[in-house]
Amino acid sequence: MARKFDYLIVGSGFFGAVCARQLTDAGKRVLVIEKRDHIGGNAYTKNIDGIHVHQYGAHIFHTNDQSVWQYVNRFAQFNRFTNSPLAKYQDKLYNLPFNMNTFYQLWGVTTPQQAKAKIAEQQQELSGKQPENLEQQAISLVGRDIYQLLIKGYTEKQWGCKATDLPAFIIRRLPVRFTYDNNYFSDTYQGIPIGGYTQLFANLLEDIEVQLQVDYLQHKADYDNMAEHVIYTGPIDAYFNYELGTLDYRSLKFDHQILAMANAQGNAVINHTEASVPYTRTIEHKHFDPVDTPHTVVTYEYPANWQLGDEPYYPVNNDSNQALFKRYRSLAKNQPQVTFGGRLAEYKYYDMHQVIRSALNTVSKLLENGIEQ
Ligand code: FAD
Ligand code: UDP
Repeated sequence: MARKFDYLIVGSGFFGAVCARQLTDAGKRVLVIEKRDHIGGNAYTKNIDGIHVHQYGAHIFHTNDQSVWQYVNRFAQFNRFTNSPLAKYQDKLYNLPFNMNTFYQLWGVTTPQQAKAKIAEQQQELSGKQPENLEQQAISLVGRDIYQLLIKGYTEKQWGCKATDLPAFIIRRLPVRFTYDNNYFSDTYQGIPIGGYTQLFANLLEDIEVQLQVDYLQHKADYDNMAEHVIYTGPIDAYFNYELGTLDYRSLKFDHQILAMANAQGNAVINHTEASVPYTRTIEHKHFDPVDTPHTVVTYEYPANWQLGDEPYYPVNNDSNQALFKRYRSLAKNQPQVTFGGRLAEYKYYDMHQVIRSALNTVSKLLENGIEQ
Protein backbone atom coordinates (compact mmCIF):
# COMPACT_ATOMS: atom_id res chain seq x y z
CA MET A 1 0.00 0.00 0.00
CA ALA A 2 1.35 3.46 -0.84
CA ARG A 3 2.51 5.35 2.20
CA LYS A 4 1.12 8.75 3.14
CA PHE A 5 4.40 10.61 2.57
CA ASP A 6 7.24 10.27 0.12
CA TYR A 7 9.69 11.69 2.63
CA LEU A 8 9.89 11.86 6.39
CA ILE A 9 12.41 14.50 7.44
CA VAL A 10 13.79 14.25 10.95
CA GLY A 11 14.95 17.67 12.14
CA SER A 12 14.00 21.21 11.12
CA GLY A 13 17.49 22.79 11.07
CA PHE A 14 18.99 24.00 7.81
CA PHE A 15 19.58 20.50 6.43
CA GLY A 16 16.04 19.30 7.12
CA ALA A 17 14.26 22.54 6.19
CA VAL A 18 16.07 22.97 2.87
CA CYS A 19 15.42 19.33 1.92
CA ALA A 20 11.76 19.79 2.87
CA ARG A 21 11.41 22.91 0.68
CA GLN A 22 13.18 21.41 -2.34
CA LEU A 23 11.31 18.12 -2.23
CA THR A 24 7.96 19.84 -1.76
CA ASP A 25 8.68 22.13 -4.69
CA ALA A 26 9.46 19.01 -6.75
CA GLY A 27 5.96 17.73 -5.98
CA LYS A 28 6.86 15.28 -3.20
CA ARG A 29 4.73 14.73 -0.09
CA VAL A 30 6.82 15.66 2.91
CA LEU A 31 6.44 15.42 6.68
CA VAL A 32 8.94 17.14 9.01
CA ILE A 33 9.26 16.08 12.63
CA GLU A 34 11.27 17.98 15.22
CA LYS A 35 12.22 17.03 18.75
CA ARG A 36 12.38 20.60 20.07
CA ASP A 37 9.41 22.93 20.54
CA HIS A 38 10.52 25.16 17.67
CA ILE A 39 11.86 25.01 14.12
CA GLY A 40 15.32 26.14 12.97
CA GLY A 41 17.73 23.81 14.75
CA ASN A 42 20.69 25.63 16.25
CA ALA A 43 20.11 28.69 14.08
CA TYR A 44 16.80 29.42 15.84
CA THR A 45 16.33 32.95 17.17
CA LYS A 46 13.82 33.94 19.84
CA ASN A 47 12.20 37.35 20.00
CA ILE A 48 12.85 38.66 23.52
CA ASP A 49 11.18 42.08 23.86
CA GLY A 50 11.98 43.05 20.26
CA ILE A 51 15.53 41.68 20.19
CA HIS A 52 16.20 38.57 18.10
CA VAL A 53 18.23 36.40 20.44
CA HIS A 54 20.40 33.64 18.97
CA GLN A 55 19.38 31.00 21.50
CA TYR A 56 22.10 28.49 20.61
CA GLY A 57 25.04 30.84 20.03
CA ALA A 58 25.82 33.61 17.57
CA HIS A 59 24.99 32.65 13.98
CA ILE A 60 26.50 34.84 11.29
CA PHE A 61 25.73 33.81 7.76
CA HIS A 62 28.70 33.97 5.39
CA THR A 63 29.45 32.28 2.09
CA ASN A 64 31.32 32.50 -1.18
CA ASP A 65 28.71 30.37 -2.86
CA GLN A 66 26.56 32.79 -4.82
CA SER A 67 23.78 30.30 -5.44
CA VAL A 68 23.50 29.53 -1.70
CA TRP A 69 23.41 33.26 -0.98
CA GLN A 70 20.66 33.79 -3.57
CA TYR A 71 18.81 30.80 -2.17
CA VAL A 72 18.67 32.09 1.43
CA ASN A 73 17.73 35.55 0.22
CA ARG A 74 14.55 34.04 -1.24
CA PHE A 75 13.36 33.33 2.31
CA ALA A 76 14.57 36.38 4.24
CA GLN A 77 16.04 39.80 3.67
CA PHE A 78 19.61 39.96 4.95
CA ASN A 79 21.42 43.00 6.29
CA ARG A 80 25.16 43.52 5.69
CA PHE A 81 26.43 42.65 9.13
CA THR A 82 30.21 42.30 9.21
CA ASN A 83 31.46 40.23 12.09
CA SER A 84 34.35 42.05 13.81
CA PRO A 85 34.72 40.38 17.19
CA LEU A 86 37.05 41.63 19.88
CA ALA A 87 39.21 39.44 22.07
CA LYS A 88 39.51 40.40 25.72
CA TYR A 89 42.57 39.26 27.67
CA GLN A 90 42.81 40.65 31.21
CA ASP A 91 41.68 44.27 30.78
CA LYS A 92 42.89 44.76 27.21
CA LEU A 93 40.97 44.39 23.98
CA TYR A 94 42.46 43.07 20.73
CA ASN A 95 41.00 42.94 17.26
CA LEU A 96 40.15 39.65 15.59
CA PRO A 97 40.78 37.88 13.32
CA PHE A 98 44.54 38.19 13.62
CA ASN A 99 45.42 41.18 11.46
CA MET A 100 47.58 44.32 11.40
CA ASN A 101 45.44 45.89 14.15
CA THR A 102 46.15 42.92 16.44
CA PHE A 103 49.86 42.94 15.60
CA TYR A 104 50.02 46.70 16.29
CA GLN A 105 48.16 46.32 19.60
CA LEU A 106 50.48 43.55 20.71
CA TRP A 107 53.85 44.46 19.34
CA GLY A 108 53.56 48.11 18.21
CA VAL A 109 54.49 47.08 14.65
CA THR A 110 52.94 49.24 11.93
CA THR A 111 53.87 47.59 8.63
CA PRO A 112 53.19 44.11 7.23
CA GLN A 113 56.95 43.58 6.86
CA GLN A 114 57.52 44.24 10.58
CA ALA A 115 54.64 41.95 11.54
CA LYS A 116 55.88 39.15 9.28
CA ALA A 117 59.39 39.49 10.67
CA LYS A 118 58.05 39.21 14.23
CA ILE A 119 56.05 36.08 13.37
CA ALA A 120 59.02 34.55 11.50
CA GLU A 121 61.18 35.09 14.58
CA GLN A 122 58.62 33.30 16.79
CA GLN A 123 58.08 30.47 14.30
CA GLN A 124 61.68 29.42 14.71
CA GLU A 125 60.84 27.31 17.72
CA LEU A 126 59.14 24.86 15.30
CA SER A 127 62.42 24.38 13.39
CA GLY A 128 60.55 24.18 10.08
CA LYS A 129 58.49 21.12 11.13
CA GLN A 130 55.00 20.60 9.70
CA PRO A 131 52.48 21.51 12.46
CA GLU A 132 51.04 18.35 13.96
CA ASN A 133 48.51 19.81 16.38
CA LEU A 134 46.59 23.01 17.08
CA GLU A 135 49.34 24.54 19.23
CA GLN A 136 52.01 24.08 16.57
CA GLN A 137 49.63 25.24 13.85
CA ALA A 138 48.82 28.41 15.80
CA ILE A 139 52.48 29.21 16.45
CA SER A 140 53.26 28.62 12.81
CA LEU A 141 50.48 31.03 11.77
CA VAL A 142 50.90 33.88 14.27
CA GLY A 143 53.74 33.12 16.68
CA ARG A 144 53.86 32.26 20.36
CA ASP A 145 52.78 35.64 21.82
CA ILE A 146 49.38 35.59 20.15
CA TYR A 147 49.07 31.88 20.86
CA GLN A 148 49.61 32.49 24.58
CA LEU A 149 47.27 35.48 24.89
CA LEU A 150 44.49 34.90 22.42
CA ILE A 151 44.43 31.21 21.50
CA LYS A 152 45.63 28.81 24.22
CA GLY A 153 43.20 29.75 27.01
CA TYR A 154 40.21 30.12 24.69
CA THR A 155 40.89 26.89 22.86
CA GLU A 156 41.54 24.77 25.93
CA LYS A 157 38.36 25.88 27.70
CA GLN A 158 36.35 25.63 24.48
CA TRP A 159 37.46 22.05 23.77
CA GLY A 160 38.17 20.89 27.35
CA CYS A 161 41.59 19.50 26.47
CA LYS A 162 45.13 20.58 25.70
CA ALA A 163 45.75 22.46 22.46
CA THR A 164 48.48 19.92 21.75
CA ASP A 165 45.78 17.21 21.66
CA LEU A 166 43.63 19.00 19.09
CA PRO A 167 43.77 18.77 15.30
CA ALA A 168 45.42 21.68 13.49
CA PHE A 169 42.46 22.30 11.17
CA ILE A 170 40.33 23.90 13.90
CA ILE A 171 42.50 27.02 14.00
CA ARG A 172 42.91 27.19 10.22
CA ARG A 173 39.29 28.37 10.12
CA LEU A 174 40.50 31.80 11.26
CA PRO A 175 42.01 34.15 8.68
CA VAL A 176 45.42 35.74 9.34
CA ARG A 177 45.78 39.02 7.48
CA PHE A 178 48.51 41.53 6.93
CA THR A 179 46.00 44.33 6.34
CA TYR A 180 44.04 46.48 8.82
CA ASP A 181 40.85 44.52 8.22
CA ASN A 182 38.79 43.28 11.19
CA ASN A 183 36.28 41.30 9.13
CA TYR A 184 36.27 37.85 10.76
CA PHE A 185 35.25 36.14 7.53
CA SER A 186 36.84 36.36 4.12
CA ASP A 187 33.67 35.44 2.21
CA THR A 188 32.04 37.65 -0.41
CA TYR A 189 28.58 37.45 1.15
CA GLN A 190 27.80 37.98 4.82
CA GLY A 191 24.79 39.07 6.86
CA ILE A 192 22.04 38.38 9.35
CA PRO A 193 18.40 37.87 8.37
CA ILE A 194 16.53 41.03 9.33
CA GLY A 195 13.92 40.00 11.89
CA GLY A 196 15.86 36.86 12.91
CA TYR A 197 16.44 33.37 11.55
CA THR A 198 13.17 31.86 12.71
CA GLN A 199 11.06 33.63 10.09
CA LEU A 200 13.53 32.41 7.44
CA PHE A 201 12.73 28.86 8.58
CA ALA A 202 9.00 29.60 8.70
CA ASN A 203 9.24 30.72 5.07
CA LEU A 204 11.32 27.68 4.07
CA LEU A 205 8.71 25.42 5.67
CA GLU A 206 5.64 27.29 4.43
CA ASP A 207 2.76 24.91 3.64
CA ILE A 208 4.76 21.89 4.81
CA GLU A 209 3.45 19.77 7.67
CA VAL A 210 5.75 20.09 10.70
CA GLN A 211 5.20 18.20 13.94
CA LEU A 212 7.08 19.68 16.90
CA GLN A 213 8.17 17.90 20.08
CA VAL A 214 8.32 14.52 18.41
CA ASP A 215 11.42 12.44 19.02
CA TYR A 216 11.73 10.20 15.99
CA LEU A 217 13.83 7.62 17.78
CA GLN A 218 11.10 7.06 20.34
CA HIS A 219 8.45 6.45 17.69
CA LYS A 220 10.65 5.15 14.90
CA ALA A 221 8.57 2.23 13.67
CA ASP A 222 5.36 4.32 13.46
CA TYR A 223 7.02 7.15 11.55
CA ASP A 224 8.99 4.81 9.26
CA ASN A 225 5.70 3.28 8.20
CA MET A 226 4.39 6.65 7.09
CA ALA A 227 7.01 7.44 4.46
CA GLU A 228 8.91 5.82 1.59
CA HIS A 229 12.20 7.42 2.54
CA VAL A 230 13.68 9.07 5.64
CA ILE A 231 16.07 12.02 5.79
CA TYR A 232 17.66 11.91 9.23
CA THR A 233 19.58 14.93 10.60
CA GLY A 234 20.08 13.84 14.22
CA PRO A 235 23.23 12.26 15.68
CA ILE A 236 24.28 9.20 13.69
CA ASP A 237 25.27 7.17 16.77
CA ALA A 238 21.85 7.79 18.35
CA TYR A 239 20.16 6.43 15.19
CA PHE A 240 21.98 3.13 15.72
CA ASN A 241 21.23 3.16 19.45
CA TYR A 242 24.95 3.67 20.20
CA GLU A 243 25.62 0.04 19.30
CA LEU A 244 29.27 0.78 18.45
CA GLY A 245 29.73 3.28 21.33
CA THR A 246 29.11 7.02 21.65
CA LEU A 247 30.76 9.69 19.54
CA ASP A 248 32.12 12.61 21.58
CA TYR A 249 30.80 16.13 21.42
CA ARG A 250 31.47 19.42 23.15
CA SER A 251 28.47 21.01 24.70
CA LEU A 252 27.65 24.61 25.65
CA LYS A 253 25.54 26.35 28.24
CA PHE A 254 23.96 29.69 27.44
CA ASP A 255 23.06 32.27 30.06
CA HIS A 256 20.81 34.89 28.41
CA GLN A 257 20.60 38.07 30.50
CA ILE A 258 18.18 40.92 29.89
CA LEU A 259 19.87 44.13 31.04
CA ALA A 260 18.27 47.52 31.75
CA MET A 261 20.59 49.50 29.49
CA ALA A 262 20.58 50.27 25.79
CA ASN A 263 24.12 49.17 25.00
CA ALA A 264 26.20 46.91 27.25
CA GLN A 265 29.36 46.05 25.34
CA GLY A 266 29.29 48.11 22.13
CA ASN A 267 29.92 45.11 19.90
CA ALA A 268 28.05 41.94 18.96
CA VAL A 269 30.77 39.47 19.94
CA ILE A 270 33.53 39.64 22.55
CA ASN A 271 35.77 36.58 23.00
CA HIS A 272 37.21 36.08 26.47
CA THR A 273 40.53 34.39 25.92
CA GLU A 274 41.83 33.94 29.48
CA ALA A 275 41.67 30.44 30.90
CA SER A 276 40.42 31.79 34.26
CA VAL A 277 37.26 33.39 32.80
CA PRO A 278 34.76 30.51 32.60
CA TYR A 279 32.86 31.70 29.51
CA THR A 280 34.31 31.96 26.00
CA ARG A 281 32.06 34.59 24.43
CA THR A 282 29.62 37.30 25.36
CA ILE A 283 27.11 38.11 22.66
CA GLU A 284 25.04 41.30 22.57
CA HIS A 285 22.33 40.38 20.12
CA LYS A 286 20.95 43.81 19.21
CA HIS A 287 24.20 44.63 17.37
CA PHE A 288 23.47 41.86 14.82
CA ASP A 289 20.16 43.33 13.76
CA PRO A 290 19.97 46.81 15.32
CA VAL A 291 16.82 47.83 17.20
CA ASP A 292 16.21 50.90 19.28
CA THR A 293 15.28 49.58 22.73
CA PRO A 294 16.08 50.84 26.24
CA HIS A 295 17.17 47.33 27.21
CA THR A 296 19.58 44.79 25.76
CA VAL A 297 20.19 41.04 25.87
CA VAL A 298 23.68 39.67 26.51
CA THR A 299 24.42 35.95 26.37
CA TYR A 300 27.29 34.34 28.23
CA GLU A 301 28.48 31.22 26.40
CA TYR A 302 30.06 28.58 28.65
CA PRO A 303 31.79 25.56 27.16
CA ALA A 304 30.71 22.32 28.81
CA ASN A 305 31.58 18.64 28.84
CA TRP A 306 29.07 16.57 26.96
CA GLN A 307 27.39 13.46 28.20
CA LEU A 308 24.52 11.47 26.79
CA GLY A 309 21.35 13.56 27.05
CA ASP A 310 23.12 16.95 26.69
CA GLU A 311 22.87 19.03 23.51
CA PRO A 312 25.64 17.90 21.14
CA TYR A 313 27.03 21.15 19.72
CA TYR A 314 30.48 20.46 18.34
CA PRO A 315 31.70 17.12 17.00
CA VAL A 316 35.15 16.33 18.39
CA ASN A 317 36.88 15.32 15.18
CA ASN A 318 39.96 13.60 16.60
CA ASP A 319 41.32 10.31 15.23
CA SER A 320 39.40 7.96 17.51
CA ASN A 321 36.06 9.69 16.90
CA GLN A 322 36.69 9.80 13.16
CA ALA A 323 37.41 6.07 13.18
CA LEU A 324 34.18 5.39 15.11
CA PHE A 325 32.23 7.68 12.81
CA LYS A 326 33.49 5.73 9.78
CA ARG A 327 32.15 2.54 11.31
CA TYR A 328 28.75 4.19 11.83
CA ARG A 329 28.87 5.45 8.26
CA SER A 330 29.33 1.87 7.07
CA LEU A 331 26.21 0.86 8.99
CA ALA A 332 24.39 3.83 7.42
CA LYS A 333 25.30 2.60 3.94
CA ASN A 334 23.29 -0.55 4.64
CA GLN A 335 20.15 1.57 5.11
CA PRO A 336 19.31 2.64 1.55
CA GLN A 337 15.89 3.89 2.66
CA VAL A 338 17.54 6.50 4.93
CA THR A 339 19.65 9.51 3.98
CA PHE A 340 21.90 10.84 6.75
CA GLY A 341 22.69 14.56 6.47
CA GLY A 342 23.75 17.67 8.36
CA ARG A 343 26.11 18.51 11.18
CA LEU A 344 25.13 15.67 13.51
CA ALA A 345 24.43 12.85 11.08
CA GLU A 346 27.65 13.54 9.14
CA TYR A 347 29.57 14.32 12.36
CA LYS A 348 31.12 17.34 10.69
CA TYR A 349 32.06 20.86 11.79
CA TYR A 350 29.78 22.40 9.14
CA ASP A 351 28.80 26.07 8.77
CA MET A 352 25.28 26.98 7.69
CA HIS A 353 26.14 27.66 4.05
CA GLN A 354 27.88 24.29 3.79
CA VAL A 355 24.87 22.51 5.25
CA ILE A 356 22.59 24.25 2.75
CA ARG A 357 24.87 23.33 -0.17
CA SER A 358 24.98 19.73 1.04
CA ALA A 359 21.16 19.61 1.39
CA LEU A 360 20.65 21.05 -2.11
CA ASN A 361 23.05 18.46 -3.57
CA THR A 362 21.41 15.65 -1.60
CA VAL A 363 17.95 16.51 -2.91
CA SER A 364 19.21 16.73 -6.50
CA LYS A 365 20.66 13.23 -6.16
CA LEU A 366 17.50 11.84 -4.55
CA LEU A 367 15.35 13.28 -7.30
CA GLU A 368 17.72 12.00 -9.99
CA ASN A 369 18.06 8.47 -8.64
CA GLY A 370 14.57 8.01 -7.21
CA ILE A 371 13.97 6.80 -3.66
CA GLU A 372 14.41 3.27 -2.38
CA GLN A 373 11.11 1.56 -1.64
P1 FAD B 1 20.84 21.40 13.48
O1 FAD B 1 20.69 22.88 13.34
O2 FAD B 1 21.49 20.88 14.72
O3 FAD B 1 19.39 20.75 13.32
C1 FAD B 1 19.13 19.39 13.61
C2 FAD B 1 17.72 19.32 14.15
O4 FAD B 1 17.34 17.94 14.29
C3 FAD B 1 17.58 19.94 15.54
O5 FAD B 1 16.55 20.90 15.52
C4 FAD B 1 17.26 18.76 16.44
O6 FAD B 1 16.41 19.09 17.52
C5 FAD B 1 16.58 17.81 15.47
N1 FAD B 1 16.65 16.41 15.91
C6 FAD B 1 17.76 15.72 16.29
N2 FAD B 1 17.42 14.46 16.64
C7 FAD B 1 16.09 14.36 16.48
C8 FAD B 1 15.15 13.31 16.71
N3 FAD B 1 15.53 12.12 17.18
N4 FAD B 1 13.86 13.54 16.44
C9 FAD B 1 13.44 14.74 15.97
N5 FAD B 1 14.29 15.77 15.75
C10 FAD B 1 15.59 15.59 16.00
N6 FAD B 1 27.37 28.39 11.28
C11 FAD B 1 27.60 29.50 10.53
O7 FAD B 1 27.51 29.42 9.30
N7 FAD B 1 27.89 30.70 11.12
C12 FAD B 1 27.99 30.85 12.46
O8 FAD B 1 28.26 31.94 12.96
C13 FAD B 1 27.77 29.69 13.28
N8 FAD B 1 27.86 29.78 14.62
C14 FAD B 1 27.64 28.66 15.37
C15 FAD B 1 27.72 28.79 16.75
C16 FAD B 1 27.50 27.71 17.57
C17 FAD B 1 27.61 27.85 19.05
C18 FAD B 1 27.19 26.44 16.98
C19 FAD B 1 26.95 25.23 17.84
C20 FAD B 1 27.09 26.31 15.60
C21 FAD B 1 27.33 27.41 14.78
N9 FAD B 1 27.22 27.34 13.40
C22 FAD B 1 27.46 28.46 12.63
C23 FAD B 1 26.88 26.06 12.72
C24 FAD B 1 25.38 25.91 12.45
O9 FAD B 1 24.70 25.89 13.68
C25 FAD B 1 25.16 24.60 11.70
O10 FAD B 1 25.91 24.56 10.51
C26 FAD B 1 23.68 24.35 11.32
O11 FAD B 1 22.79 24.74 12.31
C27 FAD B 1 23.53 22.87 11.06
O12 FAD B 1 22.22 22.58 10.62
P2 FAD B 1 21.70 21.08 10.71
O13 FAD B 1 20.36 21.07 10.11
O14 FAD B 1 22.73 20.15 10.19
O15 FAD B 1 21.66 20.78 12.28
N1 UDP C 1 39.94 30.59 18.60
C1 UDP C 1 40.81 31.10 19.55
N2 UDP C 1 40.61 32.36 20.03
C2 UDP C 1 39.59 33.14 19.61
C3 UDP C 1 38.70 32.62 18.63
C4 UDP C 1 38.90 31.34 18.16
O1 UDP C 1 41.74 30.41 19.96
O2 UDP C 1 39.46 34.26 20.09
C5 UDP C 1 40.16 29.21 18.10
C6 UDP C 1 39.42 28.16 18.96
O3 UDP C 1 40.21 26.98 18.98
C7 UDP C 1 38.17 27.91 18.15
C8 UDP C 1 38.70 28.02 16.72
O4 UDP C 1 39.69 29.06 16.79
O5 UDP C 1 37.59 26.65 18.43
C9 UDP C 1 37.66 28.35 15.67
O6 UDP C 1 37.05 29.58 16.00
P1 UDP C 1 35.61 29.97 15.48
O7 UDP C 1 35.34 31.37 15.90
O8 UDP C 1 35.53 29.64 14.04
O9 UDP C 1 34.72 28.97 16.34
P2 UDP C 1 33.14 28.66 16.33
O10 UDP C 1 32.44 29.93 15.96
O11 UDP C 1 32.95 27.56 15.35
O12 UDP C 1 32.90 28.25 17.74
